[in-house]
Amino acid sequence: MSTDKVINTDLHIHGKYSNGVSEKMEFKVLSRQSEKKGIDLLGTGDCLNPRWRKDIEKLEREKESVFVHGDMRFVLSGEVETRDRVHHLLVFPSLSKVEELYERLKRFSSDIDSNGRPRVHVSGEELALMAKESGCLFGPAHAFTPYTGLYGPHDSLSSAYGEFSDRVDFLELGLSADSSYAGRISELHDLTYLSNSDAHSPSPYRLAREFNSLRIDEISFEELRYLFEGKRGEVSRNVGLPPEEGKYNESACNRCYTHYSFEDAVSRKWKCGCGGSIKKGVKDRVNELADSVPPEKMPPYLAVIPLQEIIAKAVGHSSPNTKKVSALWKDLIQECGDEVQVLMEAGLDKIKSTAGDEIAELIEDFRKENIDIEPGGGGKYGKIVYNQSGQKSNNQRSLMDF
Ligand SMILES: [Zn+2]
Ligand SMILES: [Zn+2]
Repeated sequence: MSTDKVINTDLHIHGKYSNGVSEKMEFKVLSRQSEKKGIDLLGTGDCLNPRWRKDIEKLEREKESVFVHGDMRFVLSGEVETRDRVHHLLVFPSLSKVEELYERLKRFSSDIDSNGRPRVHVSGEELALMAKESGCLFGPAHAFTPYTGLYGPHDSLSSAYGEFSDRVDFLELGLSADSSYAGRISELHDLTYLSNSDAHSPSPYRLAREFNSLRIDEISFEELRYLFEGKRGEVSRNVGLPPEEGKYNESACNRCYTHYSFEDAVSRKWKCGCGGSIKKGVKDRVNELADSVPPEKMPPYLAVIPLQEIIAKAVGHSSPNTKKVSALWKDLIQECGDEVQVLMEAGLDKIKSTAGDEIAELIEDFRKENIDIEPGGGGKYGKIVYNQSGQKSNNQRSLMDF
């Protein structure tokens, strides 16, 4: 097999035993839903959780590191929160290594048996040591997110990982950043960037809303390791939300969602007039840390708005979570292929005959980059700004609008 093969993978999701996660996050549904999104390989998420691990054990095993349900392949992945509240993503070589790390982490955690993403009372450096001793791949999850990203409490990889900072395998960008953000920080230039969904529900606008296209010989842990070590294979493309769609793109109040410029937030000491606190946006955080321009050679970042959000906007529904939107989504997927194909490649005539004029027009606008996004912040997602008459709205946001 040659490395011409492209594998689409989303390595960070959560299972149904995690707090705040949909009951539908189980392997049967994950397999079916991610296939419709054009995904070949999913991370199991939450594999340190004993109940989720029991569900993993019931899957067919293709290799020590690869599990199968239907046509979907799964590798063992999980997220851990360390003492500094930073989240880390881990990928494991086998279930026995998951067991091994679970046993080591258990005495530092009070919720490892109940939560999908355990809080572990160790430093990032201690976690990195244990992860490496268990043969795991690891890196910071949603690295720039204000509450739980590495660059929340830390200014550098070495502040978080100490002597293991040069053994970080990847950096997960998170929904509010793309690779051009990470590329402005020189210590991240040699790292592989991942775009994963962090999905808590299997809805098509959550699961695989971000994913990575990998060029690897076959689906296995070893091939992933070679890729991150730079030996062979590559991330050929990151696919994900435009950063403005993320919940923490701009600095904004976590209670009333008023947006603030960086200077304004500083002068208010990050306190909003409503009594809430202003959460530093990923854009502002990256500006603070930036010491470089992005390297010339980076995998392309394809910014995609989830198809259900486009459909909802076009048919005038305020939420993508309606029966009509979901029926139109299914029709389009059936007729035109996966979501990226519908958004980027399918013939507009075919989209029109399948789902109507409004949706075809909005997809055409998306292709022409003729859609504005009102940036998210403070924990609230950004949204498409589009006015039904076909004119772009003038997008002059006032602080009072929030
Ligand atoms: Zn997280
Ligand atoms: Zn406020």
